[in-house]
Amino acid sequence: MTEPTIFELSSPGRQGVRFPDAKVPEYNIPAQFVRQELPLPEMSELDVVRHFTHISQFNYGVDIGFYPLGSCTMKYNPKINEAGARLPGFAYTHPSQPIETVQGNLALMFGLQEWLKEIGGFSGVSMQAAAGAQGEMVGIKIIAAYHQNNGDPQRVKMLIPDSAHGTNPASSAMSGFEIVKIPTDADGNVDFKAVKAETDETLAGLMITNPNTLGLFEQQVLDVIQVVHDAGGLVYGDGANMNALLGIVRPGDLGIDVMHYNLHKTFSTPHGGGGPGSGPVGVAEKLVDFLPGPIAEIIEEGTDEEAPFYGLVMPEKSIGRVKSFFGQFGIFVRAYNYISMLGAKGLRQAAEYAVLNANYLRVLVKNTYHIPFDRVCMHEFVAEGRWKDASEARALDIAKRLIDYGFHPPTNYFPLIVHEALMIEPTETESKQALDAFADALLKIAEEAHSAPELLTSAPHNTPVGRLDEVKAAKELILKDQSLNK
Ligand SMILES: *Cc1c(COP(=O)(O)O)cnc(C)c1O
Repeated sequence: MTEPTIFELSSPGRQGVRFPDAKVPEYNIPAQFVRQELPLPEMSELDVVRHFTHISQFNYGVDIGFYPLGSCTMKYNPKINEAGARLPGFAYTHPSQPIETVQGNLALMFGLQEWLKEIGGFSGVSMQAAAGAQGEMVGIKIIAAYHQNNGDPQRVKMLIPDSAHGTNPASSAMSGFEIVKIPTDADGNVDFKAVKAETDETLAGLMITNPNTLGLFEQQVLDVIQVVHDAGGLVYGDGANMNALLGIVRPGDLGIDVMHYNLHKTFSTPHGGGGPGSGPVGVAEKLVDFLPGPIAEIIEEGTDEEAPFYGLVMPEKSIGRVKSFFGQFGIFVRAYNYISMLGAKGLRQAAEYAVLNANYLRVLVKNTYHIPFDRVCMHEFVAEGRWKDASEARALDIAKRLIDYGFHPPTNYFPLIVHEALMIEPTETESKQALDAFADALLKIAEEAHSAPELLTSAPHNTPVGRLDEVKAAKELILKDQSLNK
């Protein structure tokens, strides 16, 4: 007899819940709506508690250890943010409640919009989008609406650097733009001459990520924005890397016309595994009327005795609604809490420590791991996970071996312009001890790659499951109790 797997704990007749007597009259549901068989596992409460607690321990999260997943800003989310989001007044509001009964929620949305405007240097913010990628699509549709409105429908060309996140070309393509790829120059900046060569009357705009996905501040960002503007184009800012800029640089001041924030990255709220995100979009004055809505606004100014009265409005030439109701409200509460606790000074400190931590780590490993664009980085850096004299090991093997050392791997194989890329983002919430321990692991793994490469190529060794076929695992994802399919 084989041992039952954790998914085969069902035992006929076992019961975990007892339903209370129905308080409504019995009703015979027509037979065609009733399933003849419903093979649910039969388990006690204790079986269920152990099952899920056991599975939860297979998982890795920021609460367990260091999580330097580049571009994702996996900073710690203080537990008080969770407590705030769970306050009954926020958690149990119904989105269809009358406006007079949700004044607190609207005040929070309005306050967060105001802060995001201030932090990014924008004139308007919409909280609608549910992720960075959706924020991009919103921004790109705003750019399209702006050109249409100006009688410029021939502006169909969107410039996108080759270091961009894959969502950038996807958002532009989905919105009907023609994409022109812009190379990266020898210093790791978007190639200024290549941008300039594309400035004609068909130019719709440029999508730029600053700091870019190499973790580098775009040294010519002002000139790049200027030539795009001079040619009648608009500039979209991918704000995923705002963590490096908080309180130091405002993208709106650089001339960025429209940008998304990733509240779930920069403003400390949980993300990953396809979970909820929030991608508010900020815009310059000339684009405010195109924002998606509804947007929280003060309908009646307050007085010394009375709070203002908030309402929801649709901007005049809005591209429309992109999300049911008002966006990801629970995430707004966490981000609001985070910003209010840190204040302006604290936000700036967060960015400074994020940049300091990344540079500290970069310098610890740079003699062992080749860093192709090696200059002072911002909140992350990209190293190569390969050695000429240890050709068996690749970035993926290093990533898997790090799991054996108790660390979440960095992002790998992105950005595409670095061979065997390892993209490392420590965030500001890690201590010097954590960074030292991680650097030690990276240096040990480099040694192993030379002396015992099979340790890397067959890693991980101490996880519930070993090396997976990642492509197959993603394409044929099985998350369900297989016994239910029988
Ligand atoms: C995360 C990220 C995005 C997309 O944001 P999501 O919230 O994951 O949709 C876009 N660009 C960059 C550079 C990112 O890191």
